Amino acid sequence: MENFNYHRPATVNAAAALLKKSKGGSYMAGGHTLLPTMKQGLAAPTDIIDLTAIKGFSGIAVSKTAVVIKAGTTHMEVATSAAVKKAIPALWEMAGKIGGVHVRHKGTIGGSIANSDPAADYPSACVGLGATIITNKRKIAADAFFTGMFQTALKDGEIITAVSFPVPKKSSHQKFPNPASRYALVGVFVAQDAGGKVRVAVTGAGPKVFRVPEMEAALSKNFAVSALGGIVAKAKGLNTDMHATAEYRAHLIGVLTRRAVEAAK
Ligand SMILES: Cc1cc2nc3c(=O)[nH]c(=O)nc-3n(C[C@H](O)[C@H](O)[C@H](O)COP(=O)(O)OP(=O)(O)OC[C@H]3O[C@@H](n4cnc5c(N)ncnc54)[C@H](O)[C@@H]3O)c2cc1C
Repeated sequence: MENFNYHRPATVNAAAALLKKSKGGSYMAGGHTLLPTMKQGLAAPTDIIDLTAIKGFSGIAVSKTAVVIKAGTTHMEVATSAAVKKAIPALWEMAGKIGGVHVRHKGTIGGSIANSDPAADYPSACVGLGATIITNKRKIAADAFFTGMFQTALKDGEIITAVSFPVPKKSSHQKFPNPASRYALVGVFVAQDAGGKVRVAVTGAGPKVFRVPEMEAALSKNFAVSALGGIVAKAKGLNTDMHATAEYRAHLIGVLTRRAVEAAK
């Protein structure tokens, strides 16, 4: 690991100013992606700007229509929130299935979505629920946020401050976890919004989170497993690696979506 300057600002503005002033700095939240990549020599920031001392950077607010989770909120805080469990049980359950206990205590929602790991869980909840990503500059619809593998719509120095999830009528998250890391080999988040429209968002299977329009159309007409009939996900463009082939991942999308519809509440 290379040497770096360490900063612990108390405000979002101070963090943004520090990053701007640095030669090649990086924000750090839970450090659970950044630190391993630094240890492997894949990242060598000149400055680490630790966001965890920013006042008001974590916390959860639940209303009748939305669950707003501030960026520095850990997965464990979401997984142990009775208010999240009541409003969006699928989101609560999903947070509790991220990594192991240690990862859940350190990893944050802001770090997870800024990282845009194709196998991470939060991107599927963001896109599946039609969330809005709030930054220190603007609001970005989840559909426009995840632009590619480890790529997002964030501009240089932009800081995620919160994520707002609309409360759906019903939802469910189903994942086939890699037994070693718990990252999704395939993960599917299905949600039916207050108006009956259904979203099906998939992670782990392709280079970035994506939706399955054919399944969404069928489920928006009739939210039942039978509505999916013989609809299958296409293997073209999906990942093949040492864990699974594209065809296997496509098969899992079908299986997990059907399970999600059955389990949705
Ligand atoms: C062993 C292991 C298992 C894991 N298993 C899973 C799993 O099953 N499912 C899953 O979804 N994830 C999993 N993770 C990922 C983990 O849950 C974290 O969410 C992830 O590491 C990033 O969050 P972090 O807070 O640690 O971010 P950091 O590592 O601190 O930062 C990651 C990136 O995001 C940037 N960043 C951080 N916060 C902000 C912000 N507010 N605004 C803008 N940029 C920001 C940083 O600059 C950095 O580039 C696993 C990680 C490990 C190490």
